[in-house]
Amino acid sequence: MMIEDALYHRYTVPFRVPFVTSTGLQQHRDGLLVQLRDRDGRIGHGEAVALTSFGTATVDVLERKLAELVPRIKGSSEQQIRELLADFEGDLSLAPVRFAVDTALLDLDSEASATPLSRYLDPDAATEVPLNATISDMDPDAAATAAGYAAMAGYQAIKMKVGAFADASREVERVAAVRDAIGPATGLRLDVNGAWSIERAIEIARMLEPYTIEYLEQPLPPGDIGALAYLRSEVGIPIAVDESVTSEEVVKEMIDREAIDVAIIKPTIIGGLTASRELIELASKAGVRVVVTTAIETGVAIAAALHLAATLPKPIPPCGLATGTLLETDLLVDSPVIRSGRMLVPDRPGLGVQPRPTIWNDGDDDR
Ligand SMILES: [Mg+2]
Repeated sequence: MMIEDALYHRYTVPFRVPFVTSTGLQQHRDGLLVQLRDRDGRIGHGEAVALTSFGTATVDVLERKLAELVPRIKGSSEQQIRELLADFEGDLSLAPVRFAVDTALLDLDSEASATPLSRYLDPDAATEVPLNATISDMDPDAAATAAGYAAMAGYQAIKMKVGAFADASREVERVAAVRDAIGPATGLRLDVNGAWSIERAIEIARMLEPYTIEYLEQPLPPGDIGALAYLRSEVGIPIAVDESVTSEEVVKEMIDREAIDVAIIKPTIIGGLTASRELIELASKAGVRVVVTTAIETGVAIAAALHLAATLPKPIPPCGLATGTLLETDLLVDSPVIRSGRMLVPDRPGLGVQPRPTIWNDGDDDR
């Protein structure tokens, strides 16, 4: 396959509700859409956003890398473009650029094969992916109400953000209220985002054991695999990692040291669907479950993560793909459809998404 034209576009989409992170108040999502056109006129799409808390470069740096790549992509074969990507393979900071270009190439390949991307990657891919709902309310009653609605709407798992309270009993009170509201059949995951010390993690995890927690996500800051392995040996709740999942090597070490039960994968951090598939195989062989999530992108990257999630070993665990509503608008003509807590995999050839044409026609495209 030869690529005749390549372009990218930087977008800004407001968050529906601005949120506070360690780097300040975030009002909008800045990202980059990539479009590759092959000789037969087919168009492949990809998307790159910055996730600096995981170690990526800023969107400005990602944009500069794309500006450097685009003239070299034009007129190149897929093989030549994959060699360009391999040149910065070990560089986490630029992983979102690899993800965007890899997605666009796979979009073209699968469309040329008249196959949805998921089935191009795996002929046995599922046609829908169960989702988790995310609850961030701090008040126990509000958290319980939101979780109850999500469970009723069909979400098979609730993911709660925890770790904000200095008082352990307040964390436990919130978790107890949510478990009570969703009943015993819905999964309950707790995401700590690395906020606990090892002592605190052991103390609170033991208090949480009666509430049937599916897993404790990133209880400790990334880095100390020995501490994570010790925590896992001390508590009865399965341990998941998210921020720690930055490369295949790190995941392999965490598996070898029996530090984890679950690995959360963001294709943008792993540097593409091709690399993510290898990581899924590695983890699955070791009995470690994989959950796929977005990095809060628009529909292009959500669709890519969706196709990847559809290839997970069955039964597919609920994945973190229901993040589109965190943004005020999507950039697609049709956003991926959620029905009864499951996201339907587009049945069209390729990625199956179509960015709104006006995105490319607003006059300030960078080529
Ligand atoms: Mg997380």
